[in-house]
Amino acid sequence: MTPEMRSNGALTEQVVCRQCFQAAAVALGYNDDRGTLRSWESFHCPHCGLMWESDDVGFLQPEPRARMLKEHGEWTLRMACTKSAFNAVKVLRSALDLDLMTAYAVLKHESGIVFTGTVHECLWLKRLLERAGESPVMAELT
Ligand SMILES: [Zn+2]
Repeated sequence: MTPEMRSNGALTEQVVCRQCFQAAAVALGYNDDRGTLRSWESFHCPHCGLMWESDDVGFLQPEPRARMLKEHGEWTLRMACTKSAFNAVKVLRSALDLDLMTAYAVLKHESGIVFTGTVHECLWLKRLLERAGESPVMAELT
């Protein structure tokens, strides 16, 4: 399965509806909004019809993110060679909120791995780096 196909996977959690107290489900996932990573949550109760949706910029909270990693795998983004360290560092800094030294250290790490995370996060960062002229490679950790 390609990473793109895997990235359709959202996460569903069974919860109790706050209105009718019956079993309902919250779905959550990621999307890439023109280069901005967004996380979303969507609730629907099949019993009383209560619905809500919310979304946020950036990474999921640690707890749902950990479940996402468990369910859809942990992925790495590797850069074997860098066309422009300056540009790559710029992308890593703004995407991952790193300071200059940390971003350079990430890029220069001997493993070549610049990021480890969910399939959606890796795809998002891969697209940002590709837009900067780089050719990062995604792989699933086994
Ligand atoms: Zn309900």
